[in-house]
Amino acid sequence: MRIVLLGAPGSGKGTQAQRLVERAGIPQISTGDLLRAAVARGSELGRQAREAMEGGRLVDDSLVLGMIRERLGEPDTRRGFILDGFPRNLAQAHALERLLEALQQPLDAVVQLEVDYRELVRRISGRRTCADCGRVFNMLTSPPAAGELCPKTAAPHRLTQRPDDNEATVTERLRVYDEKTRPLIDFYRARGLLRVIDAEGHVDEVTRRLARALGAPLRAPRRTRGAGTVKAAASKRASAGAARARSGRTARRKRPSLRSSRSKAAAKTARVARGKSRRPGSSGRGRLKGKRR
Ligand code: AMP
Repeated sequence: MRIVLLGAPGSGKGTQAQRLVERAGIPQISTGDLLRAAVARGSELGRQAREAMEGGRLVDDSLVLGMIRERLGEPDTRRGFILDGFPRNLAQAHALERLLEALQQPLDAVVQLEVDYRELVRRISGRRTCADCGRVFNMLTSPPAAGELCPKTAAPHRLTQRPDDNEATVTERLRVYDEKTRPLIDFYRARGLLRVIDAEGHVDEVTRRLARALGAPLRAPRRTRGAGTVKAAASKRASAGAARARSGRTARRKRPSLRSSRSKAAAKTARVARGKSRRPGSSGRGRLKGKRR
């Protein structure tokens, strides 16, 4: 399975990607992690990326694309991958599309993790990463369990805070997300790949929503010619009526469907699974944007 996780900083992409790695046995490719590793190594790439990262801006596309090209060429990606934090703008999305076309490995799904702006800020301030195993925790919502040990060192996790998780940089990162990354929602919706999930609530519940979103048919099912249109449905009803008239039967009354008594919450889940996070007729503006003003 080839998946992109899309969402603002703090939306839980990294945490959910790590859980998906365990579930699906495919690698997580986080451009943020790759760049941080390059900075820590002090490589030329790291040196060039550092300033933009510290300022909360995007690193140059050519650097990121070079890194992704190389990573997607590695053999562990043959069975699939989870892209986390990439693509981040339209140029990257087009480049990824071309690259995957050349590799004959098109994306199966893009899942957008939707979280309210205030909740994003709250989550980022509580985020800590284990310096040894790289696992991401949140001191407010998902701290390490009592007595939990790092699988790499067999000692307690060494929790560190990312340097770009400070207040000023976070504001800029959220602004950059709104301006550069949010347009990818429409880009992938137009390609029939987008799923949107509510990524607030308990981390296990979000994992279940993600699994459901990915378990649903990944592409819209192909329709047979004419089926599913208003015209086709009308002609089906007309011929059923004619058959009933011929046989003298009366039309069977339809029982109220489960759907008609569905709760508001379930209706939202269904909209979300179809890739529409807003109710029909509502503004459709991003949650992040809407809450900031
Ligand atoms: P992340 O860990 O995904 O929040 O990324 C941390 C920082 O790395 C971002 O604020 C950017 O400066 C940089 N970065 C990560 N992924 C990308 C990308 N796809 N394109 C450009 N910059 C990126």
